[in-house]
Amino acid sequence: MPELPDLTVFAENLTASYKNATILSVYVSAPKPLGAASAEAFQKALRGNTLLSVQRRGKQLVFSFSNGSFLWIHLMLHGEIYPVAAGGETPRYACVTIHFQDKRALAVCDRTQWMKVALVDSPKAPPWASSGIDPLWPDFTVQKLHELVSRQKRANIKTLLMNQRYIGGIGNAFSDEILWEAGILPLRIPSSLTAGEIQKLHAAIQQILKRAMNEIRRGIQGGFTGEIRDFLAIHGRKNAACPRCQSPVQFQLLGGRGTYFCTTCQT
Ligand SMILES: [Zn+2]
Repeated sequence: MPELPDLTVFAENLTASYKNATILSVYVSAPKPLGAASAEAFQKALRGNTLLSVQRRGKQLVFSFSNGSFLWIHLMLHGEIYPVAAGGETPRYACVTIHFQDKRALAVCDRTQWMKVALVDSPKAPPWASSGIDPLWPDFTVQKLHELVSRQKRANIKTLLMNQRYIGGIGNAFSDEILWEAGILPLRIPSSLTAGEIQKLHAAIQQILKRAMNEIRRGIQGGFTGEIRDFLAIHGRKNAACPRCQSPVQFQLLGGRGTYFCTTCQT
């Protein structure tokens, strides 16, 4: 599933490619991602609008249009957005295809149709959007993280980092990387973290996400599909040598999510 670093780069590249493009027509081939909204009204409302920018909010992409409306997309597990060149073929599994006046198109695809799409006429997010604080915004301070962590006397720190109601954008892969960088075991009870550990965790969140964005920018080369994960230190590397201490990377299912950690570097 794409996480904050992927989606930030997707948003940057979508803006660079489609800013100022005006919508000619919209075709809905699978209405499920629209939920209860009418496909006809959705198509009509988007027609004639010019794209101003694409931004990331939590794990969602938000397309802003010239008439003040916002298209929210949550790619969920399998959603992908593909560019379609002028005269090009629409990919299989396209749910929504946005055709622009310059003859290019954007195909929003999902073979499972689990992705979510909503058109809203105010900056207010649709109900399924994450409402947690964004870890890259200036108001995500050490103090703020301290408040979030100290209230949680149950569950574990990995689950807290991934909870989109608290913090928006971090998922399974980057929570493992962040906790490894901070030297904290994923199973730790959040409220047991010391002030020093919270400080390290805060620094690791910023460092890991920013480093990942740089790697993905380099790897994806202007695109907005796919997951670049070859730079990860421990996530997905069961039994490989920990890059810091050479001990084998441990693997455990935590709440159904594959979790990777080092019992030497993390306590
Ligand atoms: Zn280690």
